[in-house]
Amino acid sequence: MSDRFDLAVVGGGILGLAHALAAARGGRRVVVLDREARACGASVRMSGLITVAGHAPGVQWRRAKRSREIWADVCQHAGVRIEHEGLAIVARRAEAAAPLEAFAASEAGSGCNFYRIEDAHALFPQFKGDIAGLLWSPDELRVEAKSALPKIAHWLEDAHDVAFRWETAVTAVGDGVIETSRGPIAADAAVVCAGDDFRTLFGERLAATGLTRAKSHMLRVRYDDGFELPGAVASDLAVLRLPGFAELDGVDALRERLEAEQPDHLQYGVNLLVSQSSDGSLIVGMSRQVDPSPDPFQPQAIDDLILDELAQIFGKRPKHVLSRWTGTYAYSPERPVVVEAPNERTRVVVAASAAGASSAFALGEETIAGLFGKAG
Ligand SMILES: Cc1cc2nc3c(=O)[nH]c(=O)nc-3n(C[C@H](O)[C@H](O)[C@H](O)COP(=O)(O)OP(=O)(O)OC[C@H]3O[C@@H](n4cnc5c(N)ncnc54)[C@H](O)[C@@H]3O)c2cc1C
Repeated sequence: MSDRFDLAVVGGGILGLAHALAAARGGRRVVVLDREARACGASVRMSGLITVAGHAPGVQWRRAKRSREIWADVCQHAGVRIEHEGLAIVARRAEAAAPLEAFAASEAGSGCNFYRIEDAHALFPQFKGDIAGLLWSPDELRVEAKSALPKIAHWLEDAHDVAFRWETAVTAVGDGVIETSRGPIAADAAVVCAGDDFRTLFGERLAATGLTRAKSHMLRVRYDDGFELPGAVASDLAVLRLPGFAELDGVDALRERLEAEQPDHLQYGVNLLVSQSSDGSLIVGMSRQVDPSPDPFQPQAIDDLILDELAQIFGKRPKHVLSRWTGTYAYSPERPVVVEAPNERTRVVVAASAAGASSAFALGEETIAGLFGKAG
């Protein structure tokens, strides 16, 4: 054990990097340990949409706001391109328009605007289907997750002297010593950000939290008559799915209509989320199947549900599906974030939703302040 660190972070996904940043900014010597050769978990499979609208009011919404600020700063310093900003939630039905309009008038919707049909079409001429209006949220940021993660890791290494040990599996976190597949590492404190592996470390404790896993289908597609989206796009299904809309007037009427008209979409947890990359292709997601051991298969029938919803907005299905992938993430129907403190110097932090990257940096600040005091 040559080096001694103030903090060992288990996991080189976005949560691990966020904790490393918060500690390094407070002057701590940090090592990040990951069993893979590079990040290849949920953080590089995600849509890359850093969201604010739709988070539950209160703590989660404030976390998303704060994280968004840090994301913008990190992107600038780490050389991560922001592909586009803002999110349009398109109401295909009048039943979706009512809650979206109510949201725009609420505190959590400050900065958002609700546009009626004509204005909505003027803003997004790409929308060809019938729409009843749209909510425009200006705060969202979209990054290309696959390239953003390694860029942020390199920046942490170069600008903040964070040490990275890839291909290093952590087998136990003890008092001042982290046991790994490459031998022990000395660290005064540890934060475990192991994503949806909540069985290897502190498994018994995490089993008691009710955490499970969810699997999502994702696609990259291209339309022949290419167009540029001003921001990311979601649809009625998001109004039902996102916790920030759950309590708004009119959501029950929307649920009733979607249950009658799109039962398969609801069964497979389809929530249309479209974002665009610099080459014009679209990343389109996503489904949600909850299972403690998700299977690795990607049935076409679920991809079709996603593509059908896309066609409802853009008037047709894209001709080209360029790639497909699945991703799994930690999931809890009750708690978007699970934080455990097995002892005074150790924290386990799990983002348990399909929007975990959006609160990562605020969570990093909170955990590090709790471990080391306000200054990190
Ligand atoms: C398809 C999909 C789309 C999504 N879209 C979005 C989105 O648009 N916006 C958003 O905010 N969120 C999104 N999410 C959710 C988001 O991706 C996750 O909440 C977030 O990436 C979780 O980050 P993490 O660092 O905790 O996990 P991960 O990225 O999975 O990283 C965990 C890391 O820990 C390592 N590890 C685990 N155990 C050990 C061990 N014992 N020793 C060493 N290393 C270990 C793993 O190798 C892995 O690299 C999406 C998720 C998916 C799957």
